[in-house]
Amino acid sequence: MPVYLDYAATTPLDARVLMAMQPYLTEVCGNPSSLHCFGQAARRGVMRAREETAALIGASPSEVFFTSGGTESDNWALRGLAEERRKAGCRHIVTSAVEHPAVRETCRDLAAHGYALTEVPVDAAGRVAPSDVAAALREDTALVTIMTANNEVGTLQPIAEIGALLRARGIPFHTDAVQAAGHVPLDVEELHVDALSLSAHKFCGPKGVGVLYVRRTLRIAPLLYGGAQERDMRAGTENVAGIVGCGCAATIARVEMGAEDVRLRAAAASLRTALSDIDGIRFYGPREERLAGILSFGIRDIPQDTLLIRLDLAGFAVSGGSACSAGAAHPSHVLCAMGCPPEEARTAIRVSLGRFTREDDVAAFADTVRAIAKE
Ligand code: PLP
Repeated sequence: MPVYLDYAATTPLDARVLMAMQPYLTEVCGNPSSLHCFGQAARRGVMRAREETAALIGASPSEVFFTSGGTESDNWALRGLAEERRKAGCRHIVTSAVEHPAVRETCRDLAAHGYALTEVPVDAAGRVAPSDVAAALREDTALVTIMTANNEVGTLQPIAEIGALLRARGIPFHTDAVQAAGHVPLDVEELHVDALSLSAHKFCGPKGVGVLYVRRTLRIAPLLYGGAQERDMRAGTENVAGIVGCGCAATIARVEMGAEDVRLRAAAASLRTALSDIDGIRFYGPREERLAGILSFGIRDIPQDTLLIRLDLAGFAVSGGSACSAGAAHPSHVLCAMGCPPEEARTAIRVSLGRFTREDDVAAFADTVRAIAKE
Protein backbone atom coordinates (compact mmCIF):
# COMPACT_ATOMS: atom_id res chain seq x y z
CA MET A 1 0.00 0.00 0.00
CA PRO A 2 1.56 3.36 -1.01
CA VAL A 3 2.13 5.87 1.76
CA TYR A 4 0.31 9.21 1.50
CA LEU A 5 2.49 12.14 2.59
CA ASP A 6 0.68 14.95 0.75
CA TYR A 7 -1.74 16.24 3.42
CA ALA A 8 -1.20 19.87 2.41
CA ALA A 9 -2.67 19.07 -1.02
CA THR A 10 -5.68 17.34 0.52
CA THR A 11 -6.48 14.97 3.36
CA PRO A 12 -8.33 11.66 3.59
CA LEU A 13 -11.89 11.95 4.90
CA ASP A 14 -12.05 10.93 8.58
CA ALA A 15 -14.37 7.90 9.01
CA ARG A 16 -16.26 9.80 11.76
CA VAL A 17 -16.95 12.60 9.29
CA LEU A 18 -18.18 10.13 6.67
CA MET A 19 -20.59 8.67 9.23
CA ALA A 20 -21.95 12.12 10.06
CA MET A 21 -22.42 12.90 6.36
CA GLN A 22 -24.05 9.65 5.29
CA PRO A 23 -27.67 10.33 6.34
CA TYR A 24 -27.54 13.64 4.46
CA LEU A 25 -26.60 11.83 1.25
CA THR A 26 -29.57 9.48 1.55
CA GLU A 27 -32.61 9.79 3.82
CA VAL A 28 -32.25 13.46 4.85
CA CYS A 29 -32.68 14.42 1.22
CA GLY A 30 -34.52 17.72 1.60
CA ASN A 31 -33.55 21.13 0.32
CA PRO A 32 -32.84 23.32 3.38
CA SER A 33 -35.07 26.00 1.84
CA SER A 34 -38.09 23.65 1.79
CA LEU A 35 -40.70 24.02 4.52
CA HIS A 36 -41.50 20.30 4.89
CA CYS A 37 -39.88 18.02 7.45
CA PHE A 38 -37.19 16.78 5.03
CA GLY A 39 -36.15 20.35 4.29
CA GLN A 40 -36.19 21.31 7.95
CA ALA A 41 -34.04 18.30 8.91
CA ALA A 42 -31.49 19.35 6.31
CA ARG A 43 -31.66 22.94 7.55
CA ARG A 44 -30.96 21.80 11.13
CA GLY A 45 -27.88 19.91 9.85
CA VAL A 46 -26.58 23.07 8.18
CA MET A 47 -27.30 25.16 11.28
CA ARG A 48 -25.41 22.76 13.53
CA ALA A 49 -22.46 22.72 11.11
CA ARG A 50 -22.43 26.52 11.11
CA GLU A 51 -22.13 26.53 14.90
CA GLU A 52 -19.41 23.85 14.86
CA THR A 53 -17.39 25.66 12.18
CA ALA A 54 -17.78 29.03 13.91
CA ALA A 55 -16.40 27.48 17.11
CA LEU A 56 -13.20 26.47 15.28
CA ILE A 57 -12.33 30.13 14.61
CA GLY A 58 -13.97 31.94 17.51
CA ALA A 59 -16.66 33.46 15.27
CA SER A 60 -20.38 33.79 15.75
CA PRO A 61 -22.44 31.38 13.57
CA SER A 62 -24.07 34.35 11.80
CA GLU A 63 -20.62 35.36 10.49
CA VAL A 64 -20.00 31.98 8.78
CA PHE A 65 -20.93 31.51 5.11
CA PHE A 66 -20.50 28.17 3.35
CA THR A 67 -18.91 28.12 -0.12
CA SER A 68 -17.57 25.55 -2.57
CA GLY A 69 -14.03 25.69 -1.15
CA GLY A 70 -11.03 27.81 -0.36
CA THR A 71 -10.74 29.17 -3.89
CA GLU A 72 -14.30 30.51 -3.90
CA SER A 73 -13.89 31.96 -0.39
CA ASP A 74 -10.73 33.81 -1.44
CA ASN A 75 -12.31 35.08 -4.66
CA TRP A 76 -15.42 36.21 -2.84
CA ALA A 77 -13.51 37.97 -0.06
CA LEU A 78 -11.25 39.87 -2.45
CA ARG A 79 -13.75 40.68 -5.18
CA GLY A 80 -16.58 41.40 -2.75
CA LEU A 81 -14.46 43.71 -0.61
CA ALA A 82 -12.79 45.40 -3.57
CA GLU A 83 -16.18 46.17 -5.12
CA GLU A 84 -17.58 47.53 -1.88
CA ARG A 85 -14.52 49.67 -1.08
CA ARG A 86 -14.35 51.09 -4.59
CA LYS A 87 -17.56 52.97 -3.77
CA ALA A 88 -15.50 54.93 -1.23
CA GLY A 89 -12.79 55.62 -3.82
CA CYS A 90 -10.41 52.95 -2.46
CA ARG A 91 -8.69 51.04 -5.26
CA HIS A 92 -5.42 49.82 -3.76
CA ILE A 93 -4.81 46.24 -2.60
CA VAL A 94 -1.94 44.97 -0.45
CA THR A 95 -0.93 41.31 -0.45
CA SER A 96 2.22 39.24 0.12
CA ALA A 97 4.60 37.71 -2.40
CA VAL A 98 3.90 34.14 -1.21
CA GLU A 99 0.12 33.77 -1.50
CA HIS A 100 -1.66 30.74 -2.93
CA PRO A 101 -2.82 31.23 -6.56
CA ALA A 102 -6.42 31.57 -5.31
CA VAL A 103 -5.40 34.91 -3.80
CA ARG A 104 -2.45 35.81 -6.03
CA GLU A 105 -4.32 35.39 -9.32
CA THR A 106 -7.45 37.09 -8.01
CA CYS A 107 -5.37 40.10 -6.93
CA ARG A 108 -3.70 40.15 -10.33
CA ASP A 109 -7.05 40.03 -12.08
CA LEU A 110 -8.28 42.94 -9.96
CA ALA A 111 -5.07 44.78 -10.89
CA ALA A 112 -5.86 44.16 -14.55
CA HIS A 113 -9.25 45.78 -13.93
CA GLY A 114 -8.11 49.09 -12.48
CA TYR A 115 -6.91 48.35 -8.94
CA ALA A 116 -3.37 49.17 -7.84
CA LEU A 117 -1.56 46.21 -6.26
CA THR A 118 1.35 46.09 -3.83
CA GLU A 119 3.02 42.74 -3.10
CA VAL A 120 4.89 42.92 0.20
CA PRO A 121 8.15 40.90 0.23
CA VAL A 122 9.06 38.13 2.68
CA ASP A 123 12.31 37.22 4.45
CA ALA A 124 14.34 34.03 3.92
CA ALA A 125 11.91 32.11 6.16
CA GLY A 126 8.94 33.24 4.05
CA ARG A 127 7.67 35.69 6.66
CA VAL A 128 6.08 39.09 6.10
CA ALA A 129 7.23 41.96 8.35
CA PRO A 130 4.26 43.95 9.78
CA SER A 131 6.35 47.10 9.25
CA ASP A 132 6.45 46.35 5.49
CA VAL A 133 2.66 46.04 5.46
CA ALA A 134 2.38 49.37 7.30
CA ALA A 135 4.77 50.98 4.81
CA ALA A 136 2.71 49.71 1.85
CA LEU A 137 -0.54 51.33 3.02
CA ARG A 138 -1.97 54.30 1.13
CA GLU A 139 -4.85 56.69 1.65
CA ASP A 140 -6.83 54.66 -0.87
CA THR A 141 -5.97 51.15 0.38
CA ALA A 142 -9.13 49.12 -0.06
CA LEU A 143 -8.03 45.93 1.68
CA VAL A 144 -5.08 43.84 2.80
CA THR A 145 -4.88 40.08 2.29
CA ILE A 146 -2.09 38.02 3.87
CA MET A 147 -2.24 34.24 4.30
CA THR A 148 -2.15 32.72 7.80
CA ALA A 149 0.14 29.80 6.90
CA ASN A 150 2.01 29.09 3.71
CA ASN A 151 1.04 25.97 1.77
CA GLU A 152 4.54 25.21 0.45
CA VAL A 153 6.86 25.80 3.39
CA GLY A 154 4.46 26.06 6.37
CA THR A 155 5.50 29.54 7.57
CA LEU A 156 2.98 31.15 9.95
CA GLN A 157 2.53 34.87 9.41
CA PRO A 158 2.23 37.47 12.23
CA ILE A 159 -1.49 37.87 11.54
CA ALA A 160 -2.46 39.30 14.95
CA GLU A 161 0.18 42.03 14.68
CA ILE A 162 -0.80 42.93 11.12
CA GLY A 163 -4.48 42.80 12.11
CA ALA A 164 -3.93 45.20 14.99
CA LEU A 165 -2.21 47.79 12.83
CA LEU A 166 -4.89 47.56 10.14
CA ARG A 167 -7.67 47.79 12.71
CA ALA A 168 -6.13 51.04 13.97
CA ARG A 169 -6.20 52.38 10.39
CA GLY A 170 -9.72 51.08 9.67
CA ILE A 171 -8.58 48.97 6.68
CA PRO A 172 -10.37 45.62 6.08
CA PHE A 173 -8.10 42.60 6.57
CA HIS A 174 -8.63 39.20 4.92
CA THR A 175 -6.56 36.13 5.66
CA ASP A 176 -6.41 32.90 3.69
CA ALA A 177 -6.34 30.40 6.55
CA VAL A 178 -6.90 27.36 4.34
CA GLN A 179 -3.71 25.62 5.49
CA ALA A 180 -3.91 26.81 9.09
CA ALA A 181 -7.54 26.12 9.99
CA GLY A 182 -7.94 22.87 11.89
CA HIS A 183 -4.20 22.71 12.57
CA VAL A 184 -3.40 25.71 14.74
CA PRO A 185 -5.72 27.61 17.11
CA LEU A 186 -7.41 30.52 15.33
CA ASP A 187 -9.54 33.20 16.91
CA VAL A 188 -10.84 35.93 14.65
CA GLU A 189 -11.07 38.38 17.57
CA GLU A 190 -7.50 37.85 18.73
CA LEU A 191 -6.23 37.98 15.14
CA HIS A 192 -8.19 41.18 14.36
CA VAL A 193 -9.22 39.79 10.97
CA ASP A 194 -12.37 40.92 9.16
CA ALA A 195 -12.61 38.04 6.69
CA LEU A 196 -11.07 34.56 6.76
CA SER A 197 -11.15 31.68 4.27
CA LEU A 198 -10.96 27.99 5.16
CA SER A 199 -11.52 24.71 3.36
CA ALA A 200 -12.82 21.44 4.87
CA HIS A 201 -10.66 19.08 2.80
CA LYS A 202 -7.51 20.36 4.48
CA PHE A 203 -8.59 19.02 7.90
CA CYS A 204 -10.03 15.60 7.06
CA GLY A 205 -13.39 16.93 5.88
CA PRO A 206 -14.89 16.58 2.41
CA LYS A 207 -13.62 18.29 -0.75
CA GLY A 208 -15.72 21.04 -2.31
CA VAL A 209 -16.77 22.79 0.93
CA GLY A 210 -15.29 26.00 2.21
CA VAL A 211 -16.16 28.84 4.51
CA LEU A 212 -15.83 32.56 4.34
CA TYR A 213 -15.99 34.23 7.73
CA VAL A 214 -17.20 37.82 7.39
CA ARG A 215 -17.13 40.09 10.44
CA ARG A 216 -20.66 41.28 11.16
CA THR A 217 -19.70 44.94 10.72
CA LEU A 218 -18.01 44.39 7.34
CA ARG A 219 -19.79 45.24 4.11
CA ILE A 220 -19.02 42.85 1.28
CA ALA A 221 -20.72 42.36 -2.08
CA PRO A 222 -21.94 38.82 -2.95
CA LEU A 223 -19.96 36.84 -5.52
CA LEU A 224 -22.83 34.62 -6.69
CA TYR A 225 -26.31 35.98 -7.31
CA GLY A 226 -29.50 33.92 -7.34
CA GLY A 227 -31.57 32.48 -4.51
CA ALA A 228 -31.66 33.75 -0.94
CA GLN A 229 -29.42 31.04 0.54
CA GLU A 230 -26.77 31.91 3.14
CA ARG A 231 -28.77 34.97 4.22
CA ASP A 232 -28.82 36.42 0.68
CA MET A 233 -25.04 36.43 0.50
CA ARG A 234 -24.18 33.22 -1.40
CA ALA A 235 -26.81 31.88 -3.75
CA GLY A 236 -27.18 28.20 -4.65
CA THR A 237 -28.68 25.12 -2.99
CA GLU A 238 -26.45 24.16 -0.09
CA ASN A 239 -24.08 21.18 -0.32
CA VAL A 240 -25.80 19.80 2.78
CA ALA A 241 -23.79 16.61 3.28
CA GLY A 242 -20.55 18.47 2.62
CA ILE A 243 -21.47 21.24 5.04
CA VAL A 244 -22.39 18.70 7.73
CA GLY A 245 -19.02 17.04 7.08
CA CYS A 246 -17.25 20.39 7.41
CA GLY A 247 -18.88 20.98 10.80
CA CYS A 248 -18.03 17.51 12.08
CA ALA A 249 -14.42 17.79 10.82
CA ALA A 250 -14.13 21.21 12.50
CA THR A 251 -15.23 19.78 15.85
CA ILE A 252 -12.81 16.85 15.63
CA ALA A 253 -9.96 19.17 14.63
CA ARG A 254 -10.74 21.59 17.45
CA VAL A 255 -10.73 18.84 20.07
CA GLU A 256 -7.71 16.91 18.76
CA MET A 257 -5.55 19.78 17.47
CA GLY A 258 -3.30 20.12 20.51
CA ALA A 259 -2.25 16.45 20.74
CA GLU A 260 -1.97 16.19 16.97
CA ASP A 261 0.34 19.19 16.81
CA VAL A 262 2.70 17.63 19.36
CA ARG A 263 2.74 14.28 17.52
CA LEU A 264 3.31 15.81 14.07
CA ARG A 265 5.96 18.21 15.32
CA ALA A 266 7.92 15.26 16.72
CA ALA A 267 7.48 13.23 13.51
CA ALA A 268 8.60 16.14 11.30
CA ALA A 269 11.59 16.82 13.58
CA SER A 270 12.73 13.20 13.41
CA LEU A 271 12.29 13.24 9.62
CA ARG A 272 14.42 16.37 9.36
CA THR A 273 17.10 14.82 11.58
CA ALA A 274 17.10 11.60 9.53
CA LEU A 275 17.59 13.57 6.30
CA SER A 276 19.96 16.24 7.53
CA ASP A 277 23.27 14.54 6.74
CA ILE A 278 22.36 13.87 3.08
CA ASP A 279 24.97 15.55 0.92
CA GLY A 280 23.55 18.73 -0.68
CA ILE A 281 20.22 18.77 1.20
CA ARG A 282 18.58 22.14 1.91
CA PHE A 283 15.49 22.73 4.02
CA TYR A 284 13.11 25.61 3.36
CA GLY A 285 10.97 27.54 5.81
CA PRO A 286 11.49 28.51 9.45
CA ARG A 287 12.31 26.20 12.39
CA GLU A 288 9.73 27.94 14.63
CA GLU A 289 6.33 29.58 14.04
CA ARG A 290 5.41 27.04 11.41
CA LEU A 291 2.81 24.40 10.69
CA ALA A 292 3.83 21.11 12.30
CA GLY A 293 3.19 18.81 9.35
CA ILE A 294 4.90 20.49 6.37
CA LEU A 295 8.56 19.89 5.52
CA SER A 296 10.06 21.35 2.35
CA PHE A 297 13.51 20.36 1.11
CA GLY A 298 15.60 19.85 -2.00
CA ILE A 299 18.76 17.90 -2.77
CA ARG A 300 21.40 19.55 -4.95
CA ASP A 301 21.56 18.08 -8.48
CA ILE A 302 18.36 16.02 -8.07
CA PRO A 303 15.58 17.76 -10.03
CA GLN A 304 12.19 17.84 -8.34
CA ASP A 305 10.54 15.65 -11.00
CA THR A 306 13.21 12.96 -10.72
CA LEU A 307 12.85 12.80 -6.95
CA LEU A 308 9.04 12.79 -7.09
CA ILE A 309 8.95 9.98 -9.65
CA ARG A 310 11.51 7.89 -7.78
CA LEU A 311 9.55 8.34 -4.55
CA ASP A 312 6.28 7.50 -6.25
CA LEU A 313 7.78 4.30 -7.68
CA ALA A 314 9.00 3.45 -4.18
CA GLY A 315 5.46 3.96 -2.82
CA PHE A 316 5.56 7.47 -1.34
CA ALA A 317 3.17 10.21 -2.50
CA VAL A 318 4.58 13.71 -1.98
CA SER A 319 4.47 16.83 -4.14
CA GLY A 320 6.70 19.47 -5.60
CA GLY A 321 5.97 22.80 -3.94
CA SER A 322 2.19 22.76 -4.12
CA ALA A 323 -0.35 20.56 -5.84
CA CYS A 324 -1.62 23.59 -7.75
CA SER A 325 1.79 24.30 -9.30
CA ALA A 326 2.56 20.64 -10.09
CA GLY A 327 3.66 20.32 -13.70
CA ALA A 328 4.36 24.05 -13.96
CA ALA A 329 7.56 24.87 -15.82
CA HIS A 330 8.47 27.80 -13.60
CA PRO A 331 10.04 27.42 -10.16
CA SER A 332 7.94 28.09 -7.06
CA HIS A 333 7.17 31.81 -6.58
CA VAL A 334 7.23 31.16 -2.84
CA LEU A 335 10.82 29.86 -2.78
CA CYS A 336 11.94 32.57 -5.21
CA ALA A 337 10.39 35.24 -2.98
CA MET A 338 12.36 33.73 -0.07
CA GLY A 339 15.54 34.42 -2.01
CA CYS A 340 16.14 30.90 -3.27
CA PRO A 341 17.80 30.90 -6.72
CA PRO A 342 15.43 29.53 -9.41
CA GLU A 343 17.68 26.56 -10.22
CA GLU A 344 17.75 25.56 -6.56
CA ALA A 345 13.98 26.03 -6.27
CA ARG A 346 13.57 23.47 -9.05
CA THR A 347 14.86 20.76 -6.70
CA ALA A 348 12.36 21.42 -3.88
CA ILE A 349 9.71 18.95 -2.79
CA ARG A 350 7.05 19.22 -0.09
CA VAL A 351 6.32 16.42 2.37
CA SER A 352 3.19 16.92 4.44
CA LEU A 353 2.20 14.70 7.35
CA GLY A 354 -1.25 14.42 8.88
CA ARG A 355 -3.76 12.57 11.01
CA PHE A 356 -3.18 9.08 9.63
CA THR A 357 0.60 9.33 9.12
CA ARG A 358 2.43 6.67 11.16
CA GLU A 359 5.89 7.14 12.60
CA ASP A 360 7.24 4.03 10.84
CA ASP A 361 6.05 5.38 7.46
CA VAL A 362 8.04 8.54 8.10
CA ALA A 363 11.13 6.48 8.97
CA ALA A 364 10.72 4.36 5.83
CA PHE A 365 10.34 7.52 3.75
CA ALA A 366 13.59 8.94 5.17
CA ASP A 367 15.43 5.67 4.36
CA THR A 368 14.14 5.83 0.77
CA VAL A 369 15.22 9.46 0.26
CA ARG A 370 18.66 8.63 1.65
CA ALA A 371 18.97 5.64 -0.72
CA ILE A 372 17.95 7.73 -3.75
CA ALA A 373 20.40 10.50 -2.79
CA LYS A 374 23.23 7.96 -2.38
CA GLU A 375 22.68 6.61 -5.90
N1 PLP B 1 -5.40 28.69 -0.18
C1 PLP B 1 -4.41 27.87 0.22
C2 PLP B 1 -3.34 28.39 1.13
C3 PLP B 1 -4.39 26.53 -0.19
O1 PLP B 1 -3.41 25.74 0.21
C4 PLP B 1 -5.44 26.07 -1.05
C5 PLP B 1 -5.43 24.69 -1.56
O2 PLP B 1 -4.39 24.09 -1.74
C6 PLP B 1 -6.45 26.96 -1.42
C7 PLP B 1 -6.39 28.27 -0.98
C8 PLP B 1 -7.57 26.55 -2.31
O3 PLP B 1 -8.49 25.77 -1.57
P1 PLP B 1 -9.50 24.79 -2.32
O4 PLP B 1 -8.69 23.63 -2.80
O5 PLP B 1 -10.47 24.38 -1.26
O6 PLP B 1 -10.14 25.54 -3.41
